[in-house]
Amino acid sequence: MDKRKKFKPESLMMSYGYDPELSEGAVKVPVFQTSTYCFKTAEEGKAFFEVALGKREKLPGEEIGLIYSRLNNPNMEILEDRLCLWDDAEDCAVFDSGMAAISTVLMEFLGKGDVLLYNKPLYGGTIHFIEHILPTMGIEVVGFNAWDDLEDVKQRLIDEGQGSRLKLVYVETPTNPTNYLVDIAGLRELADHFSTEEKSITLAVDNTFLGPLYQHPLQVGADLVIYSATKFIGGHSDLIAGAVLGNQELMTRIKTLRTFLGNMASPYTSWLMLRSIETLKIRMEEQARNAKKVAEYLKDHPKVERVYYIGFLKEEDPRGYEIFQRQCSSAGSMVAFDVVGGEKEAFTFLNNLHLVKLAVSLGSTESLAEHPATMTHSEMEQEAMDKLFITEKLVRISVGIENADDLITDIGEALEKVPMLVGSEY
Ligand SMILES: *Cc1c(COP(=O)(O)O)cnc(C)c1O
Repeated sequence: MDKRKKFKPESLMMSYGYDPELSEGAVKVPVFQTSTYCFKTAEEGKAFFEVALGKREKLPGEEIGLIYSRLNNPNMEILEDRLCLWDDAEDCAVFDSGMAAISTVLMEFLGKGDVLLYNKPLYGGTIHFIEHILPTMGIEVVGFNAWDDLEDVKQRLIDEGQGSRLKLVYVETPTNPTNYLVDIAGLRELADHFSTEEKSITLAVDNTFLGPLYQHPLQVGADLVIYSATKFIGGHSDLIAGAVLGNQELMTRIKTLRTFLGNMASPYTSWLMLRSIETLKIRMEEQARNAKKVAEYLKDHPKVERVYYIGFLKEEDPRGYEIFQRQCSSAGSMVAFDVVGGEKEAFTFLNNLHLVKLAVSLGSTESLAEHPATMTHSEMEQEAMDKLFITEKLVRISVGIENADDLITDIGEALEKVPMLVGSEY
């Protein structure tokens, strides 16, 4: 039986895709810190190049040979094989940043005259690439708001005559930082509506926030799933990396462009990630458990006005909860909340945290807190900020694996320092 089917991903993270015999019996994958590889014979070198450059199909049982670390490297390949397991993907490509993964996908699937449909808000770097760089390449970009009805989005594309040129749909869900969910299956329908025999529309989903454990976009209609592996996959705030997963055909295109952009992950970064993914599941589960406790604590706190947490969708947002049930399996570990007050009160809270660090980024073992309106989201348009409740009083916390009671103590003590508002009931 295929090992991949017999065992769960967490069981395979320590062994899958690695043969100790090929590395002096080393239990762990060594770092293959080398730029190039010896061929046994000139004939072998010729054969490796034929396959790598797509001059011929692989023969039965033939593996892609190791040539040069921009094309392939054992650390990168083993990591890619293991990442495929979580999303049940055919193939994976790892990159030297999430932005490298994202920009490579956008460049591979879009050309002059094509239309890109994307949701707002997106990660700031992604928005910048889409709105400021893609248009210089003759690509038309069409944004929709995460809260828009998809039927309306479809109708607008028809009315504006953009549907026939639509080539790629790119979304991020849940949206950062207030955890608004976007319907992946609904977007699949929209993409199929505009696909023709000659042109199929690709649907790409940035799954950084809930994946690869709690949301599997490929299983609900996406063609490509993208990660900033800097976040949960790396998980220790000590590396920058990215990943894309999908079927063989699409991934071959992406890997080919990666070879020529040269933005693959390095052997050492890949090795660090191999180490990280052994604990991916227990980290994400503990983070999610802690986040639930933190969110529940915040919910009842007199200096907190509102908490944005996926675990509360059931009571607060039937639309979001309906999507949650179809495409997510946990509320994850991102919690945002409104402090009673404004920027001053939010900053007082942030400045008085000790265990929780004041920093952007997320998905790491340590808890991190930040102020979206003046930091990660400071470039956003006001309308979208208002609609998504990204205001001066909003704080975002990425909950880590510390002791939950200690986190609550730290958060509680920082909230105590927030001045009571004159005229308020507190
Ligand atoms: C951080 C992040 C990115 C960018 O990834 P880098 O690894 O920083 O290049 C993209 N998308 C999301 C959702 C992110 O959180």
